[in-house]
This record gives sequence, structure tokens and C-alpha cells, in this order.
Amino acid sequence: MRCPFCGAQDTKVVDSRLSGEGDQVRRRRKCVVCKERFTTYESAELNLPRIVKRDGSRVPFDGRKLRSGIMRALEKRPVSTEQIDTAMSHIQRRLMSSGESEVPSLRIGELVMDELRQLDQVAYVRFASVYRKFEDVAAFREEIERLERQPSPEANRHQMDLLKELESNAE
Ligand SMILES: [Zn+2]
Repeated sequence: MRCPFCGAQDTKVVDSRLSGEGDQVRRRRKCVVCKERFTTYESAELNLPRIVKRDGSRVPFDGRKLRSGIMRALEKRPVSTEQIDTAMSHIQRRLMSSGESEVPSLRIGELVMDELRQLDQVAYVRFASVYRKFEDVAAFREEIERLERQPSPEANRHQMDLLKELESNAE
């Protein structure tokens, strides 16, 4: 494994542990040359369905892209990397167990929303607002009101945050 900082070939594994739901190995590595540390993930290559985009084109499932979308929604939210790994595992498992060889991209969005709804309501609304392209604050407010009608402990805790989010989005 080449060091991403200096390009040296020689890196050492300093820590190794299971993440996600045990279907991923997370390794901390240290470069022997420049001493920088970085993390690698290892998981089995699984047969995930291809994604059918809105325009009908097909692309391979891209876990990195999915993760970065989730991370963006979770920016500055109190959700751990461990929890994100678990959400990723859930999504991938659900995709595999569908047995489909192709899945519409809309379905991926729904799976992400299912996970975010349980992890963090603010992230959920953020993701949903981008994903469903809420056109105005009214649609945004509707979604929040819908959430409030079926409150979870999470929703109650984050109610103030949601209001703040809404205000900053309305500015
Ligand atoms: Zn290095």
C-alpha cells in the first residue's frame, strides 16, 4: 500500500479492527518514511446491482460516492464514523438482498433516507431537500411538519436544530 502523502511503498499497519457490522476491516497505517498515518478499508467485493440513472444510463454502484453524499448530509452532526459505516452496510446489504441486477437511482436515495431518518433528523432533511429538490421553504417546512407528526426520540432532541436549520435555509 503506497503512502498517499509521500508515495513511499513501505507502510505499516498499526491498528486493525472490524467496522460496519463486521463486514469491513478498518486499518490504521503508518508510513515508514514520512510517519504520516492514514486509514484503509477492506471489504469483500460483492455483486451489487448496477444503478439506472434518471436519464436511463447505467453506472456501477459506487460506494465511495454514496458515502460522500451521506457525509455531506451529516456535516457537523453528532454522528460517528462507526454509525456511518453501519448505515453503509445496511444499504449495501439491502441492495444485495434485493437480488436485482439493476436498481433505479431513486431507490438508492430512498435507502439513504431510511438510514438517515434513524441516525439524524437534520441530516435526513438536508439529504431529502437536495434529493427531492425541494423548490422552496414551504416544501421544506412540509417535510419537517411531517416529521414532527411522527416524532422519534431523535426528532424531539433535534427539534431546536431543525428550527435553526430552517431559519438559516430561509435566509
Ligand atoms: Zn509517507
